[in-house]
Amino acid sequence: MDRRVHDAEQLSAALTELEDQYSWDADATYDAAIAYEDAACRLGDDRMITRARLVQANMLMRKGEVAAAAQRIWKIHHWAVDQGDTLVQARTHLVWANIHRHLGDAAQSLEHSVLAVELLDDTATDHMQVWHRAKLADALGAAGSMDAARQRYAQAEELAVRLGLPRLLMGMLNNYAYTEYAAGENARAEAVARRLQEVAERHGFTLDPAVLDTIGAIEIENGNYSQAEQTLTEAVRRHHQGGYEDADALAEFMLTLARAQRFLQATDRAQLSLDVSRELCVERGLGDVLVRVHQEQAELHAARGEFAEAFAVHKIFFSAHNALHSSQREAQARTRQAMFETTEARQEAERFREQARRDALTGLHNRRYIDEELPRLVRSGAGLTVAMVDLDHFKRVNDQFSHDVGDQVLVLVAKLLETELAAVAPDGFVARMGGEEFLIAMPGTTAPAAAAQLDGIRRAIGSYDWTSLTHGLPITVSIGAADLCDAPAASQSALLSTADRNLYVAKHAGRDRVVSGKPCDGRARSYRDGATAA
Ligand code: GH3
Ligand code: MG
Ligand code: MG
Repeated sequence: MDRRVHDAEQLSAALTELEDQYSWDADATYDAAIAYEDAACRLGDDRMITRARLVQANMLMRKGEVAAAAQRIWKIHHWAVDQGDTLVQARTHLVWANIHRHLGDAAQSLEHSVLAVELLDDTATDHMQVWHRAKLADALGAAGSMDAARQRYAQAEELAVRLGLPRLLMGMLNNYAYTEYAAGENARAEAVARRLQEVAERHGFTLDPAVLDTIGAIEIENGNYSQAEQTLTEAVRRHHQGGYEDADALAEFMLTLARAQRFLQATDRAQLSLDVSRELCVERGLGDVLVRVHQEQAELHAARGEFAEAFAVHKIFFSAHNALHSSQREAQARTRQAMFETTEARQEAERFREQARRDALTGLHNRRYIDEELPRLVRSGAGLTVAMVDLDHFKRVNDQFSHDVGDQVLVLVAKLLETELAAVAPDGFVARMGGEEFLIAMPGTTAPAAAAQLDGIRRAIGSYDWTSLTHGLPITVSIGAADLCDAPAASQSALLSTADRNLYVAKHAGRDRVVSGKPCDGRARSYRDGATAA
């Protein structure tokens, strides 16, 4: 790893460089992302850890480990949603879109591509602004919405020009040309390809061999066979010069070259090119290209009038084609199954997690939830009031009626607390501490302000018509409240013990009341029926 990467700012810049790469060596980028994750761990920076993991997931996908990539994506997405980190979400959706494209699911790919653009804001990098729009256009084109695709390509193109990103402009124009070509719009494809060549000339860039391959294919479709032969000969020459990562691509170029030569009636040259392509396919195990080599061989035999050979090779092509597609379908099904299982396991884990944080009797959150949630609210620094709510003389209910009636009262009190709180403090929550004791949390408030609302809740419980359950025995609660100002150490336990002390004061002052503030310095205030007593 780069030894300069030792502080957070440098690490973040190095990560951005990985994230915003236009072309990459998947293995090297993966390794760099692992090293950056380690560095982010040492800095204790969750965001950068997540960013490094997203780069890894992206590279796993590029290396063909789609299921592994899909599994990692969930966690990353979860983190980003939890943190409200829209930029990490936007990047995550883009990788996800690629995974679905890889699986042949154009609809899902499009859905994620839309989100990858929707989540962009002013803080997104220029690269993202251009590339996410271009990828949305690719997804629209793959889903057959060519007009919408063209509109997005135009936006991406305009942005790339305005932001001065010619490499990215070339990348998107290449995809644009390919999308038009794949849609059978050969004239439009050629016009885009011409713009692409102009950009390259203007900026003194040489076109990637892969780009030349696309241009050559378009030229073939438009009947410019000798132009196509030149373009592909140039692609092969550049490939041999080296520096291009994708070693397998040469088999593709030779195959396109063979097609151009067949159309030129140069069948001997075509055969030579095709033989090179076939050898490469066999040598490197390129099953999908080999299938197309067989197909081209059948065409070439037919062009030479060798119909028996053409028929024989066509049969080979046909069975190879079927075998390839069924193995691709199987691989895709396996990956989908793995993704599905991950989703299911995740939902199951969430359900367990949620259950473990609920009280079985009342359905309210429980003590475990409180222990997880309160520290977060305390840390948030937005202010917080907590109130302990205890039923008055609850033993009497159990004694005079039954434990079952007692349970029903608890369930009803829980409901009343929840609805009353939701009306005054929608961000707050109610939980059951245990027994006949509840806790109310009201984020963003101070105890003096919250006391009036808590008193409203107290009154709502006291004035509820309990006759059908308790036949005239009143049900009331005492409430002790505290806020972060009352617990200067801002710790959860200080907050709870102040609330507990205030509850004790409320009980001793006669029950059915709210006490808030610091009891020890005489600031404790008791609320009852709207009146305030020191
Ligand atoms: P105070 O006003 O001082 O709070 O009087 P209290 O009777 O409410 O106080 P105490 O804490 O002595 O009694 C609480 C009772 O709540 C004791 C226990 O039997 C009852 N209780 C605790 N959990 C449950 C429950 O889940 N269901 C029922 N029915 N009763 C419960
Ligand atoms: Mg109690
Ligand atoms: Mg009680």
